[in-house]
Amino acid sequence: MTESLSMNQSRIQELAELDKKYFLHPTTAPKTHAEEGPKIMFSEGKGIFVNDMNGDSYIDGVSMLWNVNLGHGQLELAETAKEQMSKLAYSSSFIGYSNEPAVRLAEKLVSLAPGDLNSVFYTSGGSEANDTAFKLARFYWELKGKPQKRKFIALEDAYHGVTIAAQTATSIPNFHTFSNSGISDVFHAKPHLTNCELGDKSDPNYEGCIRDIIEKEGADTIAGIIMEPIQGSGGVHIPPDGYLQAVRELCDELGILFIADEVITGFGRTGLMFGVENWDVVPDLLCFAKGVTSGYAQLGGVLIRQHIRDTIVQYEGVLSHGFTYSGHATACAVALKNIEIIERDNIVVNAKMMEQELKKGFEYLKSKHPMVTKTRAIGLLSAIELYENSDTNKPFDISVKATAQVGEECFKRKLMIRPIRVGEGKNIIAIAPPLVINKQEIEQMISIIDESITAFEKILT
Ligand code: PMP
Repeated sequence: MTESLSMNQSRIQELAELDKKYFLHPTTAPKTHAEEGPKIMFSEGKGIFVNDMNGDSYIDGVSMLWNVNLGHGQLELAETAKEQMSKLAYSSSFIGYSNEPAVRLAEKLVSLAPGDLNSVFYTSGGSEANDTAFKLARFYWELKGKPQKRKFIALEDAYHGVTIAAQTATSIPNFHTFSNSGISDVFHAKPHLTNCELGDKSDPNYEGCIRDIIEKEGADTIAGIIMEPIQGSGGVHIPPDGYLQAVRELCDELGILFIADEVITGFGRTGLMFGVENWDVVPDLLCFAKGVTSGYAQLGGVLIRQHIRDTIVQYEGVLSHGFTYSGHATACAVALKNIEIIERDNIVVNAKMMEQELKKGFEYLKSKHPMVTKTRAIGLLSAIELYENSDTNKPFDISVKATAQVGEECFKRKLMIRPIRVGEGKNIIAIAPPLVINKQEIEQMISIIDESITAFEKILT
């Protein structure tokens, strides 16, 4: 081993020890981590690839946390951050203070957003955006003289973040094991409008479909319905055509605000700039984060329809809500550049084209591996579902840990994907690479998944 190699090894070792000791990781098993240390120590990246400190190169098959839309090592974003930081890294947006990048970005976002989503409230991320949407919705109804409209409906399998209100709306059970806290007045519905065949409606924990809940609670108590246009962390569930339109109509009919959580689906991920555009729906509040900066700076926000803005601007008091980093100058400058590149390099069109390549790859995997039973893709948001028996949709036994095992096999072969296990025996692998991916890189990804499933099949036999 050369001297520099061994120095690098001892540095990695030192970092691992420090990490174990001082860094409490999010969404990580603390006991295992304290014993085993970090799984990987990233050091740099380019496009769809990230390197670890050993110099091994991995394909980032899920854009880290579905956010690195422009891929890694995008130097124009780095330059923009440097330029803005050198001038004015940050300024407050409270008490009417402002800065140019925040204003220009607001104008740009409004020009891109569907319908009359005509103003923006900035946050630092997605959970804060959803919490802000809940507060805006309640505030709106108070101003409208309907303060009793305070409840929210979210969907089963939803992920909306981890701040207390957003976590309550999140229905993936794991996220309720950490200090099972939450706000009241959030109900989870089956992702259907009507005809839920569920039992006792007088049970306070009754979960029906959206209309059942509205009937039970009373439309005059419901402030809003929140949903991801396409569910991400819950398993990449693409709604059937007509579903989002029907929710929109229901909200209009009953005077309920429609909140779209576009934290994953925004900024080209689904092959259009926003997920709701796949079905021509305009929500009342649209929450975004992640892809707005491709992860190069922390930023989120809520786009707000004109009728809500009109109501809010009549309020003569102070809108006492906001984050230190609302309208962060550097984050907003990076977002503007990110959007400029997305438009200039036709990134959204690329996502749509690459959807076709992914789908071809999925057909191949299905033809070769009986366990690959269901696949779906919209833009570069996609998933594979594994079943023990694809003819009968018999799930793998939980003890088999099918997706975790395939995920590990992929990792060994230098591809990072996202294994998701939901409910009883649903084994889903999410694939959502950076939107700059090309055909050959998709083929490379598919071939690694192919080899990994083959390896898993061997383990099973
Ligand atoms: N909503 C959705 C749909 C998400 O996927 C996420 C993050 N994965 C969030 C909200 C929360 O965003 P953040 O982690 O930036 O708070």
